[in-house]
This record gives sequence, structure tokens and C-alpha cells, in this order.
Amino acid sequence: MAVLPIRLFPDPVLHTQAQEVTDIDGALQKFIDDMADTMYKAPGLGLAANQVGDLHRVIVFDVAQREGKPELMVILNPRITAADGEIIHNEGCLSVRDFSAEVRRSARVCVEGLDRHGKPLTLTAEGLMAVVLQHEIDHLNGLLFLDRLSRLKRSLYLRRLKKRAEAGG
Ligand SMILES: [Zn+2]
Repeated sequence: MAVLPIRLFPDPVLHTQAQEVTDIDGALQKFIDDMADTMYKAPGLGLAANQVGDLHRVIVFDVAQREGKPELMVILNPRITAADGEIIHNEGCLSVRDFSAEVRRSARVCVEGLDRHGKPLTLTAEGLMAVVLQHEIDHLNGLLFLDRLSRLKRSLYLRRLKKRAEAGG
């Protein structure tokens, strides 16, 4: 198990669509364990493969760790099959330093995919878990929460990033 380096915005891998997982082998299991280590170490509620520079559709997440009873969830090739309601949550991202913003998403989602051993799974989530699932699946589609903000809010962040680069930080 190892902690992998997390790619930071504006790394182009974060804006690249990830491909379906087809080979469920030992290398994938090791990669999933490394992703989990990376997420817990950060710490973060979720991590998508793009964020560690791998373009396969793999997400890991754990919204129970906050209550001190971690429960790792892994979904391969996740896709949202149903969504309803609306939730506005203040989101951050391990790939976007020192910035968070309110994002509007579906309050409830149904997600289908495969578990880490390739067995089909269906998950219905609401609240924080629904937010995390939509955030991580966005990553696999090459989208960041920044891409869901108004142009004004996004430009505030871009300007801050530019200033920091100019200051050599
Ligand atoms: Zn993220």
C-alpha cells in the first residue's frame, strides 16, 4: 500500500475523461488499496483515479470516517441511473487547493457499477453521500466542481491562483 501523489488543478489529467475498467486483476486491487491510502492520508471523503493520474473509472469514498468508523466504498465504472431533488453543499477538492464553494447538485442519486471484484452493485444515496458520488463521478468525466460554478466565482479562484504563481508560491 502506498500514498500516491495527488494531481492538482490545472493538471490536464483532471480534465480528461477516464475509460471503463475491463481488467479486474491484482494490479487493480493494489491500485484501489493505494487510492484508499491516499484518500485517508489526505484526508478526503473521496478520490477518483484521475486525481492520481490514472485514467480508469475507479472511485473510492468513505463518508463514515468522520464518525470514527471508516467504511471504504469502491465503485468501478459508476454511472448515475436516477437522480432527484436538489442540495446545495459547500464543496472542496483534494485537487483544488485552498478553495471551496457552494455547488448545486441532486439530493438523491442511484448509482450502478461494479464492486472491486467485478460484481454488479447498485447504491442509493442521499445527502453528503449523494454529493460525494456526484463529485467523484464528475472527476471521471473530466469535470471539477470549479466547472459547475458561475463564471464569476471561478474567475475569483483563477485570479487567486495566478497571483500566487506570480508570487512564486
Ligand atoms: Zn475532487
